Amino acid sequence: MATAEFEVGKFLLIRAEHDSDLIQLIPKLAKKKGIVMAAFTVIGALKRAKLEFYDQEKHEYQEITIKQPHEIASCVGNVSIKNGNPFVHAHAVLADENGDTKAGHLAEGIVFAAEIHLHELKGTKLERKHDSVTDLSLWEIK
Ligand code: ZN
Repeated sequence: MATAEFEVGKFLLIRAEHDSDLIQLIPKLAKKKGIVMAAFTVIGALKRAKLEFYDQEKHEYQEITIKQPHEIASCVGNVSIKNGNPFVHAHAVLADENGDTKAGHLAEGIVFAAEIHLHELKGTKLERKHDSVTDLSLWEIK
């Protein structure tokens, strides 16, 4: 186990633009506000989305395409650095009109309406590096 410690900085409440993609929007917002590290949650509704499931044997993502409107029942994530740029890692639980859910790694989330709660984290700047065991980009914590 490796741990990095932070102080909590600014806490921003953000109304996401209609038709924006959460995965593109959040790192842009962070950069604009001078935020390097952050944790966030999102609630609202998406017009469509792409979720992913990581196949631990094949070391590749399987895509789950969602073409219908869904509620964001839960979305949690963080912002760190990958290849020198802000990088978002988010997971979401999305609910359809019956309350049935699909969940996974959020690759794309096109906003109908959404509220982002972004917590700035001040301290060590974590960079994602390739991990040979999982074949994923994981935090390099010293
Ligand atoms: Zn993930």
